[in-house]
Amino acid sequence: MDQIKIGKFIAKCRKEKNLTQFQLAEKLNITDRAISKWENAKSMPDSSIMIELCNLLDITVNELLIGERIDKGKYLEQAENNLVELKKYIENQNKLQINLSYTFRITSLIVDLVFTFIILFGTIDTLSEIILIIAFVLVSLICLFTSAHIELLAGYYQCNKCGNKYIPNKNFFSFSMQIGTKRYLKCPKCHKRSWNTKVLKK
Ligand SMILES: [Zn+2]
Repeated sequence: MDQIKIGKFIAKCRKEKNLTQFQLAEKLNITDRAISKWENAKSMPDSSIMIELCNLLDITVNELLIGERIDKGKYLEQAENNLVELKKYIENQNKLQINLSYTFRITSLIVDLVFTFIILFGTIDTLSEIILIIAFVLVSLICLFTSAHIELLAGYYQCNKCGNKYIPNKNFFSFSMQIGTKRYLKCPKCHKRSWNTKVLKK
């Protein structure tokens, strides 16, 4: 998917409808900053408002995803191509988010090791030691929450008991035990606790 092309297409269709970014945003119940982000290729419209957006702009979702109007004759062929492209795009986004989450966790581990080393073997006074311990806890917590937050944005967790795939509750998620791609979570469907596996596709 070509986000730049899609952005320009949204802007063009909006202007054809004689709408400002603000007016379009108002009709969609979102901020005009969101529209500006789409048009400048900084983000894509959320799936939840894609159909409404297309209705307002008098285009189809397929045309939105390709960033141009499609001939009636080529419509089906283009629709199939779009489905494949969209699937690739989602898979790439998920991979990126998971890599970012791992980067945070590894950074946290390195920082923790350095702090531990200084506290154990460094010749520093008690006050510096206390400051270091506080910094150590803060850095660990920030990394823990950030990586959990990023990880939650990608894919789902699958319950080991009933097979239900779901997005876990953010508050409990950060503190849940984790081994590799598994986390010890409570399933919202069967309410049983088990080691849930991370899956990218529903
Ligand atoms: Zn379950």
